[in-house]
Amino acid sequence: MKLAMMGTGYVGLVSGACFADLGNDVVCIDVDEEKIRKLRAGEVPIYEPGLEELLRRNVAEGRLRFTTDPAAAIRDSDVVFICVGTPQKGTGQADSSYVVDAATTIARHLEGFTVVVDKSTVPIGTAARLTRLISDITDQPFDVASNPEFLKEGAAIKDFQNPDRIVIGTNDARSREVLGKLYAPHARVNRPILFVSPETAELIKYAANAMLACRISFMNALTPLCEKVGADIKDVSRGIGLDTRIGPRFLQASPGYGGSCFPKDVRALVDTMETHQLNSNLFRAIDQVNETHKKSHLERLRRFVPDLTGKRIAIWGLSFKPRTDDIRESASLTLIDQLLEQGARVSAYDPEAIDNTRRVLPDIEYAATPYDAVAGAAAVVVMTEWDVFRNLDFERVRATMEDPLIVDCRNIYEPSEMQALGFRYAGIGRPTSGVSTPREESVEQPQSCGVRGGDYTRRGGGGPSPASAATRGLPLLGA
Ligand code: NAD
Repeated sequence: MKLAMMGTGYVGLVSGACFADLGNDVVCIDVDEEKIRKLRAGEVPIYEPGLEELLRRNVAEGRLRFTTDPAAAIRDSDVVFICVGTPQKGTGQADSSYVVDAATTIARHLEGFTVVVDKSTVPIGTAARLTRLISDITDQPFDVASNPEFLKEGAAIKDFQNPDRIVIGTNDARSREVLGKLYAPHARVNRPILFVSPETAELIKYAANAMLACRISFMNALTPLCEKVGADIKDVSRGIGLDTRIGPRFLQASPGYGGSCFPKDVRALVDTMETHQLNSNLFRAIDQVNETHKKSHLERLRRFVPDLTGKRIAIWGLSFKPRTDDIRESASLTLIDQLLEQGARVSAYDPEAIDNTRRVLPDIEYAATPYDAVAGAAAVVVMTEWDVFRNLDFERVRATMEDPLIVDCRNIYEPSEMQALGFRYAGIGRPTSGVSTPREESVEQPQSCGVRGGDYTRRGGGGPSPASAATRGLPLLGA
């Protein structure tokens, strides 16, 4: 089948490469000339495990091309996917302007029946809106279907090739047949394909992300209570996750969710609920808990280092999760902003995200190894659970630090083991080991973010201020 991908970011590039690998003829289109130039030169503009090899193979075998010129690619395609960004507006609303631009371009070049598929995460009603927009421009036959993408950065190729499910939203029989054929290789290996209405497909995407974000905020909201009463969040997680009605996944305490999807999608759902004059309290609370929690790690550190002025603090992990270079809304950047405000000196290490971070935080120190980052540090804070941090030479880490203190916001280490290695250690939502905590009584616990307690004055929730590094990271990766 002949396919065009409008937007060659994480979603467009990965799905374009994977569709090509299934034997389709794929053209990836982007308005970003530099990105297309790099791709044509064999450079991969994002870090995603396995992607480079997949691109190389499919380009070499003539199934995958890159262009900034949409005309011929759209005219010749059976299916055109919209994979452009839908970032958050200041109000929390999703910004659909890139989707509208892409659809307008598609409409100008359509020839013969074409399925226009929205893979971007879009406000409910977008397929209907694009149908009206395209029919105002062209008389050519087309259908707009919704096919939300569920891939996870860091495991995107595996997720695309082996998805839990494929959701296709269309009311058009031809469209259903074309997309059924396109996804036949997935159906043959028993991947469930759900055919639903476009509105249902659009809502499934928001609901899925809100549910996952909810589980994260649920567990994170329990961490201050665990710390107060001496409970261990890891055991709480296991204790509830073994209940088959709950299941074990997405129950780990963490520094708070980030990335380009959960924060903006939860806020977009809040906005949609409110646009329909519906009660959005549950969804607001998910966002509010997360934002408060992301800002609570400074206090976690200040329990042990009350005055951070002039102190060197090491940060292990900058990306919002491991196996990606994506720093959008990363909790790590929120903490770094706070540390700089406190007068601390920050030295950071991340296996993949340093280049992206350097663009928004040029003035902190970047280390070549985890060991270099901790040299002379008064503490190291683990913000991303990259595998490299799991089995370091901790004797060497301790020897090089000014003060052997580990604040582990991912709970990747065992408190007793770290104590035995001579560290003062604080996990998150876990009993603290080997530490006398001078400020224990005066520590401000992260605010409870129940529906009553939160600040709901700001539409879209309490995201980082526009000036924060996390937000400054947004435009880095396109759209
Ligand atoms: P991205 O920012 O990485 O890439 C978007 C690309 O679209 C950019 O390269 C940009 O230059 C290009 N673009 C913008 N306007 C264009 C136009 N008119 N024509 C052609 N190209 C254009 O975005 P992404 O992370 O791939 O996300 C795309 C969509 O998929 C978003 O709606 C996102 O919410 C959703 N999504 C993302 C993920 C993820 O993990 N990144 C997962 C599932 C869904």
